Amino acid sequence: MRILFLGTAAAVSTPSRDNTSLLINDILIDCPGNVFGKMKKAGYNPLRLKAIIITHGHVDHIYGLPSLIEMIRLSGRKEPLKIYIGRDFVETAESSLAMYGLLHQEHGFEIKLIAVNYQQQLLFNDNEISIEAFPVKHSVPNIGLKFSSFDSKVVYTSDTEPCDELIDLFKDVNLLIHESSCSYLYSKRLEGHTCAEDAARIAQLSNAKALCLVHLGAEIDGNESRLTEELKRYYLGEILIPKDLDRVVI
Ligand SMILES: [Zn+2]
Ligand SMILES: [Zn+2]
Repeated sequence: MRILFLGTAAAVSTPSRDNTSLLINDILIDCPGNVFGKMKKAGYNPLRLKAIIITHGHVDHIYGLPSLIEMIRLSGRKEPLKIYIGRDFVETAESSLAMYGLLHQEHGFEIKLIAVNYQQQLLFNDNEISIEAFPVKHSVPNIGLKFSSFDSKVVYTSDTEPCDELIDLFKDVNLLIHESSCSYLYSKRLEGHTCAEDAARIAQLSNAKALCLVHLGAEIDGNESRLTEELKRYYLGEILIPKDLDRVVI
């Protein structure tokens, strides 16, 4: 599985980190900022996208969607594109696309918005990858995602409080990509989010082979080494705190 970290910051970006979004094989997960430009910078052709998944409708996960759709259209896409999104936010996505006249364009491509329920379910399946959605605990309804290929499993939690009840679902994954909007080194836990130490504890309990932290609070930016040392008290596996545009191949 090929993972490209298009952004790694929490809701407030920093000089070096944009809001979190991921490209896993040809699936885009969340769409803040200039995702199109970042895919190009990383050498990926955005016309290859097979689907977009928006985990929830908070602005840092969705605000770049209209611009991405327009850039893809202007670049010549003709094939329909599926956008999976929690059912509570379909209207948000529709109206933000409609506001710029992007939903039904004469020389465009078909956009299929697919409402996702907040139950554990198979979202996407092709010959490379299957993607399962599962509910997490955030200030609004939200989904995490589990990616499975023939030889690897990766989980992305999206924005969530620590969910000990999901440890079974995370069991033995090759990579747990956990949100980490805070660290007890700097603050108490933010409502609806996870501190890095709890992410590390969950990674240990689920026997994840590696832990990757994203959706990083601004106080973590620049203090990655100190945090990694601290997390070794909680988790014995490999710890990654990627920079924007870093890649991992599992
Ligand atoms: Zn967020
Ligand atoms: Zn959120």
